[in-house]
Amino acid sequence: MELTKIAEPLLAWYDQKARVLPWRSFPTPYRVWVSEIMLQQTRVDTVLPYFERFLDTLPDIAALALAPEEVLLKLWEGLGYYSRARNLQRAARIVAARFGGELPSTRQQLTELPGIGDYTAGAIASIAFNLPEEAVDGNVLRVLSRLLASHADIVLPEVKQQFRTLVRGIIPQDRPGDFNQALMDLGATVCLPNGEPHCNSCPLSTQCVAYLKDIAESLPVKKVKKPRDIQRRTVFVLLHNGTALLVRRPSKGLLAGLWELPSAPGWLEETEARDALRQLGATVHGMTKLEGAKHIFTHLEWHMKGWLAEVEAFSPTVEHLWAASDALRETVTLPSAFSAYKKYLPK
Ligand code: SF4
Repeated sequence: MELTKIAEPLLAWYDQKARVLPWRSFPTPYRVWVSEIMLQQTRVDTVLPYFERFLDTLPDIAALALAPEEVLLKLWEGLGYYSRARNLQRAARIVAARFGGELPSTRQQLTELPGIGDYTAGAIASIAFNLPEEAVDGNVLRVLSRLLASHADIVLPEVKQQFRTLVRGIIPQDRPGDFNQALMDLGATVCLPNGEPHCNSCPLSTQCVAYLKDIAESLPVKKVKKPRDIQRRTVFVLLHNGTALLVRRPSKGLLAGLWELPSAPGWLEETEARDALRQLGATVHGMTKLEGAKHIFTHLEWHMKGWLAEVEAFSPTVEHLWAASDALRETVTLPSAFSAYKKYLPK
């Protein structure tokens, strides 16, 4: 099939069916950038309230560059992948220092900023600056695989690169941002993953080779990913005088530098749990077993069990914080991995 023929019906469909999203109605470079970073690994519905709150508190690049880290992380609390927020701020500081506070427009300059990869650079350049740059994410790879009935493995870098080159060759010069967003929307709302494309309502069905051959549900081909590692952990909710004990995570790696509930590897029974708490410097009253919980990271799952206890004496061996309800509400960012145990914290 000739991919050049998809632009016209795709844009006509987009003009009718485009999702109404706050960053689209007023696509300044800053708003597009923040939205694209929030949308990495995260669904649109989840991002919407975060986006509004973030823009209300930090309305421009200068405000983002100057924001205290605790404010920034609090705005991100629950979105996960906190390195995205830190990279946003690092990039804002670079933009303030090197580019006079204006986000640069070229793909090359954008990809030199922390947290902006090839896809995000293409999305910002095309949507915010109207440059004919491709933005090929997983949704777009799926749509293209099906349009072309390609059995190439879309996990392979060389296949991604081939698809990027193909898209680059067909971007309409007058509407590059709309074209990229139309492809993304088609993938997100019509050409759905997991064998469920809505081909009957697709504007490209008369051209789609996979649909015409009736093989759309078997595409795209994706190499099976390595299964996630599973870690068992025991989480402690330790209370004292209306506050909860939090400890600092290491400055590198998973949830780097964030506060967390104390925890220990493995599922500990009461005697082992008391030993672990002693190593932390805490002596506790009677302990209550809490329910189990699971949290899924990209490459890792935590399978947790919990204990609740009132602390009798504490000689800290690690960086810690006794957080009262107002701090937990307003300043401290607790990762959503601990969501199941938040109900036991001071209200
Ligand atoms: S016809 Fe079906 S498989 Fe082809 S692009 Fe449209 S929704 Fe996807």
